[in-house]
Amino acid sequence: MDFDEDANLDLSKVEDARGGGGGFSGGPMVVGGGALGLIVTVVLALLGYNTLGDDSSSPAPSSSANLAQECAVSNAQRFELVQCRQVAVFDDLRDYWSTEGTKALGAQYADPRLRFFTQGVNTACGQATSAVGPFYCPGDQRIYIDLGFYDELAQRFGAPGEFAQAYVLAHEFGHHIQYLTGFESEVRRLQQRDPGNENKYSIALELQADCFAGVWTRNASGGAQSLVESVSAEDIKSALQAAGAVGDDRIQEQSGGRVNPETWTHGSAAQREQWFNTGHSSGDPKTCSTLDRV
Ligand SMILES: [Zn+2]
Repeated sequence: MDFDEDANLDLSKVEDARGGGGGFSGGPMVVGGGALGLIVTVVLALLGYNTLGDDSSSPAPSSSANLAQECAVSNAQRFELVQCRQVAVFDDLRDYWSTEGTKALGAQYADPRLRFFTQGVNTACGQATSAVGPFYCPGDQRIYIDLGFYDELAQRFGAPGEFAQAYVLAHEFGHHIQYLTGFESEVRRLQQRDPGNENKYSIALELQADCFAGVWTRNASGGAQSLVESVSAEDIKSALQAAGAVGDDRIQEQSGGRVNPETWTHGSAAQREQWFNTGHSSGDPKTCSTLDRV
């Protein structure tokens, strides 16, 4: 993928809380489990939203001064840095979803925030460690990412490539769109009413976020203001590889567990790839109705 080398990055919705524990108070860790943690990310958000949904645990906004320096146009190497690529992708996602994306869905747009952290972080959904992987918290409308996750994605899950990182952020952004459309709270309601199918609903939520990531990918290099200038066939392969790599069946195999669809909450590798493809080939978020197809 290529970025617009001359564009200024908008850091106004980005919070850099890397280093120094990022405001983590060192209390008991509520989630963990390494790769398995990926499975619980949204469950954490959902549970957290129900039980710990007050904003008082959110730390004060962090300074993004270093990030501004690192990702300034004057740094010719800025797009070799994962954090600057993520900010560029984040701004491109905002650009698409604030206009065509939410318009197509008939939803009102509001920006999420992107917070980088290391080790652990306090959120409106409770405390989380890096072990859970990237996640979205509807309670404070933030996407939380420890950039170290991308090393794990490359090494442990065999999904290297810059676009794999873009896909992950686009998936989390998709969860924010689900918050805006009300699909996230609808799923939560369905889960409470029909606990026997809790995982099925969770999978529908996850697969729609994959589909939304595909939709954005299709539209990413569209606009004149677009920060992402091109997305190659190789990039799409890299995103599909990542979508498959973090499918529940693969994670269970990786972690030595028996593959047991009953405990799946994100969908299989094949399902995740399929829904990313659906979004990518249509470029239309209205094609992402996963609920009646899981
Ligand atoms: Zn997810």
